[in-house]
Amino acid sequence: MRKSVPLLGAFLLAGAAAALECAEAARSRTKEATDQTQLDDLVVANRILSDQGVVDGFGHVSARHEADATRFLLARSMAPGLVTADDIMEFDLDGSALDPRGRTLYVERFIHSEIYKAHPEIKAIVHSHSPSIIPFGTTSVPLRPIYHMSSFLGAGVPIFEIREAGGLATDMLIRDPELGAALARRLGKSAVVLMRGHGDVVVGSNIQNVVWRAYYTEINARMLAQAIAIGGGPIMYLSAEEAVLTDASMQRVEARPWQLWKQKALGR
Ligand SMILES: [Zn+2]
Repeated sequence: MRKSVPLLGAFLLAGAAAALECAEAARSRTKEATDQTQLDDLVVANRILSDQGVVDGFGHVSARHEADATRFLLARSMAPGLVTADDIMEFDLDGSALDPRGRTLYVERFIHSEIYKAHPEIKAIVHSHSPSIIPFGTTSVPLRPIYHMSSFLGAGVPIFEIREAGGLATDMLIRDPELGAALARRLGKSAVVLMRGHGDVVVGSNIQNVVWRAYYTEINARMLAQAIAIGGGPIMYLSAEEAVLTDASMQRVEARPWQLWKQKALGR
């Protein structure tokens, strides 16, 4: 009888260890599944943005790593429309690849690293040369929301002037952390920052959200240019209140166009 107490203790300890192991294995399986889902969504985001004409041979989309906020996922240097899961790499917030294996990196990866560093709430980023937005970065006409799908523009769309951060003689690219940090500061709390003579950066709370925003930024710019061309008096933009309320309701339906764009982009 006296021996049964240590025996029982050992039995309970073994049972607890087995339970811990099971929980650990389950956690690891969940993490793997989460990682895979994020990776798959990032591939789809690349394909959608290309299919919808937001990016062409250039431009990129990244996501902050769901399991480690100090890392982000971004493809190797290539056309977004051709990206597969094998092309996605992990980066730290200095813009260094963790396992480069000789692969070429996007020169402008510092857009992503510095914005993630400066803005912890941002989880996904698109950089593009989205054609209709370019005129709004080079003129004094502000890019403002003219319909509900682009209500996130109501937070204001600043213009990044690279001459202020890099002087008169740059090649317009964000090719170092200092330029990336200056761009992140100019972005502030907005969803979009225009880059004069170059393109834009769009940020979001997740991959679907940033794809929505990048797409509707392009559409809004196109339609605003049409409204300006039509003339006929002042343009009625969404008010600040309309923009805030509409942005909240639109975020609830982001999955709908994502499903449609995904099917078109993947050809199934
Ligand atoms: Zn660029």
